Amino acid sequence: MSPHEAIVIGGGQAGLATAYYLLRAGVDVLVLDDQDGPGGAWRHVWPSLTLFSTTDFSNLPGWLMPPFDGFPPASHVVEYLARYEDRYKIAVERPVRVDRVEHVDDGYLVHAGDRHWSTRTVVAATGTWSAPFVPTLPGHFAGRQWHSANYPGVEPFRGSRVAVVGGANSGAQIAAELTAVAEVTWYTRHPPRWMPDEVDGRVLFARNQQRFLAIGRGEPDPGADSSLGDIVVLPEVRRARDQGALRATPMVGSLDEVDADHLIWCTGYRPALRPIRHLLEDGRPRFPGLFLVGSGDWSGPGSATITGVGPHARQVAREVTGAVGKQAR
Ligand code: FAD
Repeated sequence: MSPHEAIVIGGGQAGLATAYYLLRAGVDVLVLDDQDGPGGAWRHVWPSLTLFSTTDFSNLPGWLMPPFDGFPPASHVVEYLARYEDRYKIAVERPVRVDRVEHVDDGYLVHAGDRHWSTRTVVAATGTWSAPFVPTLPGHFAGRQWHSANYPGVEPFRGSRVAVVGGANSGAQIAAELTAVAEVTWYTRHPPRWMPDEVDGRVLFARNQQRFLAIGRGEPDPGADSSLGDIVVLPEVRRARDQGALRATPMVGSLDEVDADHLIWCTGYRPALRPIRHLLEDGRPRFPGLFLVGSGDWSGPGSATITGVGPHARQVAREVTGAVGKQAR
């Protein structure tokens, strides 16, 4: 069988946006994704989660997210990504869990169990959700531990004592909703940095765009605007905060100090790079024909957001297109 021109690993928003640009340029691309259906990480977020911006600020290249009144739930994004795949006839094979990518003379071999695909280029768009991060702390916690990656909503916590660790958006949102059903201690390393109540995720996206453009012009990265705060004050968060139910407690130095039935780590993620880690040096590809997109600031400002990933996907698609000797459009 002749090799593919491009294989994209990961069928979340970053992988689909990249495939969109590749298909426009006539590049033969196959997406391999380990989920049972479309949606990437959005399939796994907790039931009450909504976007922190409206649909106008949550668009992938080519087709606007269908309207929703207010902040859309994750199911709206999953539906959007499913329809996006269909609309652009993106070939996605699932569930396929890629174990390892091997660099060979004229490209790469992509291995998944006893199957493999030959390809001239590889784009890793594997996101972060499958690599939740938990900091190492001394001591012992006797209760049950969770991560926001597998937080199932309030039910298992009703009437219990819950420690929530993490001072960013997921920590604030999970702690806020739990205050209605449980005794919550919200541990943060520094006092919560609330964004002004009247703004939402839009301002973060605008800042990301400024950063992307500055870097593209060869100017220094202006960085995130720390004066703005980093917790978007969604309605549930505001309610709990203003009622005094959501108050931060300084982070403990040892798990022995946590007196609770449950401990929920809202401490973020790391890029899920296991299949290609051996092909990277200082986080960058060692060989031509291997590319990364999505997954947070390490692959460019805003590349972990729906709207923000578009320019990064276009840039990577341009490079892939050039690498296979075609003309980007
Ligand atoms: P993913 O969606 O994770 O897609 C990667 C895909 O690759 C997944 O399907 C994964 O299972 C698969 N994969 C991984 N490894 C392999 C492998 N070895 N083989 C095959 N497949 C593999 N963004 C916004 O724009 N607005 C918001 O309001 C917003 N809110 C957020 C709230 C929370 C709580 C979180 C966690 C994120 C939020 N984001 C938001 C950020 C962002 O949109 C998501 O993190 C987004 O899912 C990143 O997309 P991605 O395509 O890079 O990765």
